Amino acid sequence: MTMCMIFNNLNNLPVVAQFESLYGAQIARWYPELTNIRIYTDQQGEGFIKKWDDRNDSPYTSNHVMNEIMRSEDVYNRCGFTIEEEYAILAHELGHMIAGVRGEKAQNNLQEEKNADQMTVKLGLANHMKSAIQKMIDYRIHPANNPEMLQRIAVL
Ligand SMILES: [Zn+2]
Repeated sequence: MTMCMIFNNLNNLPVVAQFESLYGAQIARWYPELTNIRIYTDQQGEGFIKKWDDRNDSPYTSNHVMNEIMRSEDVYNRCGFTIEEEYAILAHELGHMIAGVRGEKAQNNLQEEKNADQMTVKLGLANHMKSAIQKMIDYRIHPANNPEMLQRIAVL
């Protein structure tokens, strides 16, 4: 049995447990700081992000200070991501978390997103990240972000 290291899977989300069993050991070797992250959905969970940052326009929202990630059920219901696309999105969110924990500041939002996308490259999930971003564009999740999302696709 694999011990849970990266996530404290508060709502027992199957995708989180599967992600951890596939990628958890590798991520723990690269980034031992990422541990016991409380992860929950905006429909079931109660945490810091839910109380203070319930924007619901992003598949996952993270807060490295509180060590929390929240999943937006609405975005998932609208986009119909494959499980591999969701792995990629989770990896991207962990990219944000590690940048925050290590104090690696990007010069702007687009660069921060591109840096987080590099975690999907390292885990072999870049093509799934691309198709996930394309779905967010197609389903008009946050149209104001479309130009930046197209630039991310172009470099993945
Ligand atoms: Zn992001």
